[in-house]
Amino acid sequence: MKYALALVNIKGLGVKTFSYLIPDEMKDKIQIGQAILVPFGRQGLINAFCVGFSGYLPGDFKVKKISKILDEKPLFSIDYLKLLEWVANYYCCDLVTVLNAAIPLKLIEKASKTEQAVEFVKFDGATKRQKEVLEILQISGKMPLILFERQAKTTRNTIKKLEELGCLKITAEELYRNPLDILKITEKEPLFELSPDQQKVYEGIKNKAEGNKTILLHGVTASGKTEVYFKLIDDTIKAGKNVLFLVPEIALASQLTKRLAKKFGTDDVAIWHSSISDGERYDVWQKLYKNEIKILAGARSAVFAPLQNIGLIIIDEEHEGAYKQTNPAPRYDARVVARKLAEFHNCPLLLGSATPDISVYYRAVNSGNLFELRKRYNDAKVPPVTVINMQEYGRAAYKNVISKPLQVAINETLENNQQVILLINRRGFSTFTQCQACGHVIECPNCAIPMIWHAREQRLKCHYCNHSESFPDFCPECGSDALKNSGTGTQKIEQYIKELYPDKKVERIDSDILVRKGEHIRLLERFQKGDIDILVGTQMIAKGLDNPNVTLVGVISADASFNLPDFRASERGFQLLTQVAGRAGRGDFAGRVFFQTYNPEFYALESAKSQNYGEFFEKEIAAREEFDYPPFSQIIRLVLACENNFRAEKSAQEIALRLCTMVEKYGISERLEVLGPTNCVIERLNGQYRFQILIKNKMDEKGHRFISSFLNKITMPKDIKLTIDVDPLDIL
Ligand code: ADP
Ligand code: ZN
Ligand code: ZN
Repeated sequence: MKYALALVNIKGLGVKTFSYLIPDEMKDKIQIGQAILVPFGRQGLINAFCVGFSGYLPGDFKVKKISKILDEKPLFSIDYLKLLEWVANYYCCDLVTVLNAAIPLKLIEKASKTEQAVEFVKFDGATKRQKEVLEILQISGKMPLILFERQAKTTRNTIKKLEELGCLKITAEELYRNPLDILKITEKEPLFELSPDQQKVYEGIKNKAEGNKTILLHGVTASGKTEVYFKLIDDTIKAGKNVLFLVPEIALASQLTKRLAKKFGTDDVAIWHSSISDGERYDVWQKLYKNEIKILAGARSAVFAPLQNIGLIIIDEEHEGAYKQTNPAPRYDARVVARKLAEFHNCPLLLGSATPDISVYYRAVNSGNLFELRKRYNDAKVPPVTVINMQEYGRAAYKNVISKPLQVAINETLENNQQVILLINRRGFSTFTQCQACGHVIECPNCAIPMIWHAREQRLKCHYCNHSESFPDFCPECGSDALKNSGTGTQKIEQYIKELYPDKKVERIDSDILVRKGEHIRLLERFQKGDIDILVGTQMIAKGLDNPNVTLVGVISADASFNLPDFRASERGFQLLTQVAGRAGRGDFAGRVFFQTYNPEFYALESAKSQNYGEFFEKEIAAREEFDYPPFSQIIRLVLACENNFRAEKSAQEIALRLCTMVEKYGISERLEVLGPTNCVIERLNGQYRFQILIKNKMDEKGHRFISSFLNKITMPKDIKLTIDVDPLDIL
């Protein structure tokens, strides 16, 4: 091969690939994955990665020579690139976009690997506060300066002073920075002995775990799924293979890593997510590539870490939306990438959840790879749920939103000095139309999706197919004139609650407060300490809160969870209600849960009340089949955005028309349905008007190939932005 493709990171240009000539003396040394040095314009020599070879140039231009191979040992393999290529192809984006997400920038920029380290010497002469800082260093031993600064919550200045006092020594050397080093766990804890139920599931999975398979562990919260994972991890590393363990969030990744380190030791365990420092990332990357890590725990992006010799991939809380990157591209789902990764390594992929993704559950049932834990460990109880029918209680409720039974329960809870969580599941944009007499929600006749009220045009619209209607005078179900657009935001509810409980501490958590950095965490900490009596919030409060003093959870409008314009709304609503119910009564005091609703007989709500996943699944999968939604089809979403409303709509119409013509020509319009274009639910974002086209692919890979080759061929005018989302999380 004559030319090498070099991946570079240029300020202002981002990550890109360029061709370079391979000098003769490098011909038998150069390999994919090596760090190399290349000339680049006025910037002189810059660091790059070799990511491929070719015999010719993609255009007619003068090409420069590679200057140097920086490190003969590559940092990733050809297989790794193949995985990334697969991802690019599946998500309809280019390889550079995927490389950009997968390979940390610092790996490209980094040339010198030495770094300053600090070592403890003595306490003499240090002040009280300085001694505290030194103590950390004494316990942990020699460590990187940057890490020490962060762990000890101190400054460079203090460290400098301590060096002048001779209390510590600063040296320059090559060190591995593993963020876990600080834990310094030497004594490993033994694994728990599994309960008979857990043992049965563990053995079942073990028997299946030959070769490449996707296995689902469905276990109610606190049933001990993690203990089952640990046994399987232990077996895998004893067999000489490594384990990748994904969790949905950074905070959960840290918790998990600590738990793993206690059981398996700090040397073999590493953590990977978007917030570890560049230096740490660089070092963990190297260790991974050298096969020095046995267990890697991390969030979504860890699926791209170059862990070698994988024998098991675990994805916990697999139903969580956080596994899907929505912005920017690549809009990948770590679960999908993990499935491919498991295929590459010919190893099992184990998914776990208390409320599994409907499609995942469906596939697991059909392949016989489903395992279930139906009871909490030690028979701990899940809190009872009361459904409040707002058709009865609505009129007497405070401001029509807080019913008497819920008020009484709040009073009792506060009198006992316990805490309350109130969930308002409302994402601001959508207002569905519901009958307050019978609970009926106005849906699109073609799509079975709630229609959304557009005040500007004074019409109800379907955001899948663009069907529209005027506002009906009477409920089509019961004939009453009580049809209303529902829409009470978190701030309103917070205000009502403050009016009802003027002496109590009420706080609100929703995406508005995310604007203030760290506010979310601060509020949760205050709530945990008991500084807040009533916490009001959106789905952000449903997860992870483990506060034993919370004995009441109220859901203000359970209907809102189900009435988003999305085929997955029932599934997400069910998951949310089940998860939020799990926040009550986690300590010594029994918990209670209240769902307020105008539609008490709605199937997803009934199943959430009884926490019966199997029942919910049966109903939901039937509805999916009837309307050809996943898993019976694949959804691909195209969004066209432009500052000019007319141009955005016109370009969407053009693309839809071309697509329709194509599928008709091939006689596949039944199996590759093109819906829309229609306004997005968020009609305007950052000054751009947005239109969407939804494609329902019922032809699996064939249909996907058809669409991606179509999309590859279209070019958009400069002012119009086309966004492609394969398997979108929502269609807002
Ligand atoms: P899940 O992952 O299903 O939510 P966990 O694994 O976190 O559940 O278990 C819930 C609690 O029960 C944890 O505190 C865990 O340590 C404990 N537990 C579960 N199984 C066992 C066991 N076999 N022996 C001892 N404790 C257990
Ligand atoms: Zn009605
Ligand atoms: Zn429709």
